[in-house]
Amino acid sequence: MFDNLSDKLDKALHILKGHGQITEVNVADTLKEVRRALVDADVNYKIAKNFTNAVKEKAIGQGVLKDLKPGQLMVKLVKDELTELMGGDTAGINLSGNPSIILMSGLQGSGKTTFSGKLANYLKTKKTKKPLLVACDVYRPAAIDQLHVVGDQIGVEVFSDKENKNPVDIAQKAIAHAKQNGHNVVIIDTAGRLAVDEAMMKEISEIHQTIQPQETLFVVDAMTGQDAVNTAKAFNDVLNFDGVILTKLDGDTRGGAAISIKSVVNKPIKFIGTGEKMEAIDVFHPSRMADRILG
Ligand code: GDP
Repeated sequence: MFDNLSDKLDKALHILKGHGQITEVNVADTLKEVRRALVDADVNYKIAKNFTNAVKEKAIGQGVLKDLKPGQLMVKLVKDELTELMGGDTAGINLSGNPSIILMSGLQGSGKTTFSGKLANYLKTKKTKKPLLVACDVYRPAAIDQLHVVGDQIGVEVFSDKENKNPVDIAQKAIAHAKQNGHNVVIIDTAGRLAVDEAMMKEISEIHQTIQPQETLFVVDAMTGQDAVNTAKAFNDVLNFDGVILTKLDGDTRGGAAISIKSVVNKPIKFIGTGEKMEAIDVFHPSRMADRILG
């Protein structure tokens, strides 16, 4: 995960470690390399620039030039700033309702259906919940079948109605079904398109307004780099969602999405997807991710 970024940051910080005497010039050089590494990893230039400016200010404030181990101090400052950029603390999901309703949003192919299954499985095994999965994609029958396959795999009931072409109605019926059958979590998988479009936004926004979920999650493929950030912004403008799910972090993503999303939409990354299997789900810990990136 993020091997290229890790290598580059490591090299950038080595410049400092290698110098006998630390000067303002080589601190500046180091930060320039850090910035370059971030931009290469698909982090927006402005975010990368703000990032290195913040590290520079702290480095000056903490007297990096006089520190006995300036290299180590710089690594710590970069790590702290990276943690902050990715959201600081770990954010949980709101399971307060009965049932608690979780609405999944995102583009087609982002990993919504897979993640809906992973989350149901996670809640069932780790939190002893009784989830219900709901298929609200009224355009692609294959998507409904896919959710049934996932549900069978993890032993979680799936609510669907292939004859019904009204996703709001399906969601409402599913919630009624959950109440009658003792499901305390309802996870609603919605239709996505290949790109952001008005009809999709109108539909998800209607579902959102009608069912008033406790938790609206936006699922995005980390491999799409800066596009992931743009898509997040478009969905957040309409849904004001509660959290981000970053999928496919097991691929050779450059990491830009993980680093930038929080600062663009000001919503935390809550979980990450690290594979196709139902168990490939992790709670997102900004500090652990920063540790991983900085090796
Ligand atoms: P949806 O259209 O948003 O519902 O997306 P899907 O859940 O169907 O996922 C699209 C593809 O991405 C499928 O082939 C999934 O197996 C795959 N996928 C989903 N999440 C991950 C992940 O975290 N890692 C990897 N490698 N593949 C994933």
